[in-house]
Amino acid sequence: MTDVYTPEYYKQHRAQIRASHRKYYQNNRELFWEQSRVWAENNPETRKRIAREYARRVREGALKALGGVCSVCGFDDIRALVIHHKNGEGTREYRSIGSHGVYLKVLRGLPGYSALCANCHMIRHSECSGLRKKP
Ligand SMILES: [Zn+2]
Repeated sequence: MTDVYTPEYYKQHRAQIRASHRKYYQNNRELFWEQSRVWAENNPETRKRIAREYARRVREGALKALGGVCSVCGFDDIRALVIHHKNGEGTREYRSIGSHGVYLKVLRGLPGYSALCANCHMIRHSECSGLRKKP
């Protein structure tokens, strides 16, 4: 590795510097993973907090990518929004890749998802299954 870069030097050689860092990482991947594992073991609370914050950002990003409001009633409190699978199979997908996997698919712009509030989501599913009718 080289000395500290000046901002000007970094701007001019950004691509080479990044390529060099990438190569260094690839050649020392096991070392990085080991350091990461040791750090996580020694900082369990911080690791949990970072993981929770990351999961929250991914979830909120996915819901915002779908408009950030319920597509039926317009409710916009992100805490009560869920991702609806327009073509069904939501339970199967959640079981196979988990909610985080679904959020990442939404962030990649894959089709077939919409944001619904918890009430509209429940109503939509009860209408689809025909199990619960409105009294
Ligand atoms: Zn709604």
